[in-house]
Amino acid sequence: MEAIKDFFGSLLLIELFKGMKLTGKYFFKRKITLRYPQEKTPMSPRFRGLHALRRYPNGEERCIACKLCEAVCPAMAITIESHVREDGSRRTSRYDIDLTKCIFCGFCEESCPVDSIVETHIHEYHGEKRGDLYFTKDMLLAVGDRYEDDIAKNRAADAPYR
Ligand code: SF4
Ligand code: SF4
Repeated sequence: MEAIKDFFGSLLLIELFKGMKLTGKYFFKRKITLRYPQEKTPMSPRFRGLHALRRYPNGEERCIACKLCEAVCPAMAITIESHVREDGSRRTSRYDIDLTKCIFCGFCEESCPVDSIVETHIHEYHGEKRGDLYFTKDMLLAVGDRYEDDIAKNRAADAPYR
């Protein structure tokens, strides 16, 4: 019985008409596709993109070299070395993230007691060779300096839910 049904179904092009009906149904509806990259979808304040190291408004780097982010990172993508400054404060002498290892879980951001390491909205970046995605402290601080306004706005928007 099924075979006969299938035979007449294909003879009368039933599947084709079903497909055309669906196409016709959406033909005049509002389009939901975007012309990326000219048009972009809204992003959550929690979006986890490129990492950045932040500074305080006086220019002092936030990171206190506690190494919590390094310890919590499941991909072991973070490498930190620290030293004690003349004023007795502890700071990083090396802070590297290998983004080829990173799985963008956000644990580093969550673990940081001083909101230093964060993940920004930036997702349009690439590397052409392996070393291009190895971000050093200077590179991470530069990302933070450049996007601080955006980072601060997103942190404030997400604060009630943390
Ligand atoms: S986002 Fe996750 S995997 Fe990437 S550096 Fe942070 S803790 Fe490691
Ligand atoms: S970025 Fe934050 S969690 Fe990581 S070492 Fe610095 S202060 Fe500690």
